[in-house]
Amino acid sequence: MKKTYWEEELEGFNRESLENLQVERLNKTLGNAMRSPYYKKLFKAKGIKPGTIKSVAQIRDLPFTTKQDLRDNFPYGFLSLPKKEIIRLHSSSGTTGNPTVIFHNRHDINSWANLMARSLFCAGVRDTDVFQNISGYGLFTGGLGFQYGIERLGCLSIPAGAGNSLRQIKLMQDYGTTVAHAIPSYLGRLYEVFEQQNLDPKKDTLLHTLVIGAEPHTEEQRLRIEEMFGVKAYNSYGLSEMNGPGVAFECTYQNGLHIWEDAFLIEIVNPDTLEPVPDGEYGELVMTTLDREAMPIIRYRTRDITRIIPGECKCGRVHRRIDRIVGRSDDMFIIKGCNVFPMQIEGVLLKIPEVNTNYLINLETINGIDEMVVNVEVNKEWFTGDLRKLDLLAKQITAKIRDEVLAKPIVKLVEPGTIPQPEGKAVRVKDKRNNGLK
Ligand code: ADP
Ligand code: ZN
Repeated sequence: MKKTYWEEELEGFNRESLENLQVERLNKTLGNAMRSPYYKKLFKAKGIKPGTIKSVAQIRDLPFTTKQDLRDNFPYGFLSLPKKEIIRLHSSSGTTGNPTVIFHNRHDINSWANLMARSLFCAGVRDTDVFQNISGYGLFTGGLGFQYGIERLGCLSIPAGAGNSLRQIKLMQDYGTTVAHAIPSYLGRLYEVFEQQNLDPKKDTLLHTLVIGAEPHTEEQRLRIEEMFGVKAYNSYGLSEMNGPGVAFECTYQNGLHIWEDAFLIEIVNPDTLEPVPDGEYGELVMTTLDREAMPIIRYRTRDITRIIPGECKCGRVHRRIDRIVGRSDDMFIIKGCNVFPMQIEGVLLKIPEVNTNYLINLETINGIDEMVVNVEVNKEWFTGDLRKLDLLAKQITAKIRDEVLAKPIVKLVEPGTIPQPEGKAVRVKDKRNNGLK
């Protein structure tokens, strides 16, 4: 039987052929970029000429692009093609300034759908699966981005959209959903609704796989989700500027995320010096689109902190792996002189069985001193009977967090369902400090 493109991708590339393709596509990308008002001006000023790239290392001679550059040139400054050729745009909400918008032509949408199909295949999804996509359809990329990939792979797709847990559960039961995609923070809530209905997703659904992503989460969070739902949960990474989902995906070995290097040229740099860091070391992920025509982006600073996992994956894919994202460079906060990533705290909390998956870190000035107040939901049983036990648990959690991040937190244990949860991605930190020292 004829193999599809995503089945063949396992055998289709070796490192050399991949790098040759990258050079070829990089030259083409620069040629396309040169047609956009923004890069045209920049390339002229810097004497950059498309077609002159001979090796991928030459990427370092090119300028970086930041989110601010995209915003400053909103809406059409990065567009490389006449508007007539554009068939879709996706955009961020723009609550903190101009939104960022990404335009696609037919080729881009097609190539994105292929990348998504390849990603899902990589995580073990097959055309026999019933795939429920629990993400917002609209300007955000998780809805349509997944939808096109699910259809291209040939699954039965259920474009469920986000929210309304009772409806999600009914869809799962009515149509025998085997795979679902959702943000990890939502799955804890969905599980609570299963429980309220006296249902157990392990017994009362046919789910075998969850695709989780779009927000930082820890290995502990993944294990919780796998346990709650009785599934394998695979990490999916992407960002709107690089299409959306379908940038990097875990394979069934769950040992880092393969990043699709025929479509994205990747670098990991020190965010302060912008110099490359050696493989295995953490830094900021920088990406260049290699297969986008309408709106190529060169050396995009994602602000996401990760590392290249050295060595080959057991699955045999040639595309290198990145480690799970520890956070964005701007997620990090400084408290009592210590640098803290929220995911370090999540890692500690979710190792404690009494704690559920919902927590919120408030940074507050109390009596003139900046404190890290960690609100944690713990199982209901803890609030009946001996409250001294609760106190003891809070002390244990305090000590564990202090051991991990070196700053001593104030831990507040609260009942499940008390910490407000946003509709979309989870908010893990609120900075309410007086001096704004972040
Ligand atoms: P926004 O900037 O509004 O969140 P996106 O929807 O494009 O817009 O979100 C992309 C960002 O989400 C990434 O840059 C990264 O910070 C985060 N993200 C996406 N997938 C993952 C993942 N699997 N793990 C951790 N963070 C992720
Ligand atoms: Zn692999």
